[in-house]
Amino acid sequence: MVQPYKHEPFTDFTVEENRLAYLKALETVEGYLGQDYDLVIGGERIATDDKIISYNPANKEEVIGRVSKASQELAEKAMQAAVGAFKTWKKTKPEVRADVLFKAATIIRRRKHEFSALLTKEAGKPWREADADTAEAIDFLEYYGRQMLTVKDGVPVQSRPNEFNRYNYIPLGVGIIISPWNFPLAIMAGTTVAAIVAGNTVLLKPASTTPIVAAKFVEVMEEAGLPKGVLNFVPGSGAEVGDYLVDHKDTRFISFTGSRDVGLRIFERSSKLNPGQVWMKRLIAEMGGKDTIVVDSEADLELAAQSIAAGAFGFSGQKCSACSRAVIVEDVYDQVLNRVVELTNQLTVGDPTEQGTFMGPVNDNNAFKKIMEYIEIGKGEGKLMAGGEGDNSKGYFIKPTIIADLAPNARIMQEEIFGPVVGFTKAKDFTEAIEIANNTEYGLTGAVITTNRAHLEQAREDFHVGNLYFNRSCTGAIVGYQPFGGFNMSGTDSKAGGPDYLLLHMQAKTTSEMY
Ligand code: GLU
Repeated sequence: MVQPYKHEPFTDFTVEENRLAYLKALETVEGYLGQDYDLVIGGERIATDDKIISYNPANKEEVIGRVSKASQELAEKAMQAAVGAFKTWKKTKPEVRADVLFKAATIIRRRKHEFSALLTKEAGKPWREADADTAEAIDFLEYYGRQMLTVKDGVPVQSRPNEFNRYNYIPLGVGIIISPWNFPLAIMAGTTVAAIVAGNTVLLKPASTTPIVAAKFVEVMEEAGLPKGVLNFVPGSGAEVGDYLVDHKDTRFISFTGSRDVGLRIFERSSKLNPGQVWMKRLIAEMGGKDTIVVDSEADLELAAQSIAAGAFGFSGQKCSACSRAVIVEDVYDQVLNRVVELTNQLTVGDPTEQGTFMGPVNDNNAFKKIMEYIEIGKGEGKLMAGGEGDNSKGYFIKPTIIADLAPNARIMQEEIFGPVVGFTKAKDFTEAIEIANNTEYGLTGAVITTNRAHLEQAREDFHVGNLYFNRSCTGAIVGYQPFGGFNMSGTDSKAGGPDYLLLHMQAKTTSEMY
């Protein structure tokens, strides 16, 4: 009997035992740095000469590991393996498929700190952020496993006398999973296992800066009993392997998490019919965000400041849910801004392996350069209040940065920066604040800090985002509690960790029998 779902608790690192366990896990991970990882195609491990090298973003000399890089030929081989495995996996009982996820959750839970420590090294995640990433991966496994058990018998439909109607969900086919580097365990695992538990087979192409944690996850799925060919591991370049697989006639669906531009490219390519293709591909896309915290004049201003600082700078703002805009009603603007500046100046930036570090590095040199360019733009558009400096001599470190007094249409207020930069804008009243909050092409998360009930209800109706939070920050959605996904250019509003997520990976079939 499967126990009801509950989310995986976060680790309290003030408890000495937990602190020591994390330090030990860091040692374990350090013990296996620099190793080679193969492709996995139809259960077979294949090494190539061409490698993707994963570096520690906090210390760019340190190699986390090297993964083999798929060519188009190997991608084709993986596609054929997935097509073959689909024939049996789609007929494997949903209960058996779900069991694989539950076992994988158990394995990861046992090695929880090791996975988190690997995230600290490979993605630069401070302890708390890494711990949350691993917990979320466990949650996805536990949640989607259970969800499969609830959808496996379909939903009741009406039947007339002598008629027996059924309505069931069947899998789609082969899916391409293109996963991001910012939640290199949680989102990679979540998007992969949702597809798999629904009866599909997949090709997983992880982000090129964080492939090692993905390789470790593939090992876990094998250990949990996943049959060969169901999950094929094909790291590679987007231009070579990504496009090839997106275009492939046998690709039935694509599950993508990443930037708006890449998402739109996939949207366009996947809509083209290729010779031999007999379906319209389905796209599940989770793209960018330009997320706002609105602060009303009647509000707990300390809560507002804390929420903005945490939402803007947690994991260096590298979340599509990050607070990158603060829209403050004018009578409390200076007070909130000054308090956020104070809090920001207290944040520690540095080596994420050290327990007290609040912010580690940004992802890589490309991210570093892009964010620093935006900071320059911001200095021209508004007033620099905190941070503004970066140092990429050892790793890719950028101070948490606040730009104030921006016009709502400033680039800093409109374009996704994906770094530790938050822009402040003044609104004359609450209604204008909501208008400014909606004034982007995205619609992922948002938060409202107010004690005014009427304003909360106004925001509930008018603030157009997929995840709206009241009197808290706008990051940190929990699987099964706050299904996550956005509107407009934020994606296809596919709600990860939500009650209908698996159905996006399935198609409904009606059977009607006369008797
Ligand atoms: N689900 C995460 C959150 O609520 C963000 C995911 C992302 O950045 O892609 O903060």
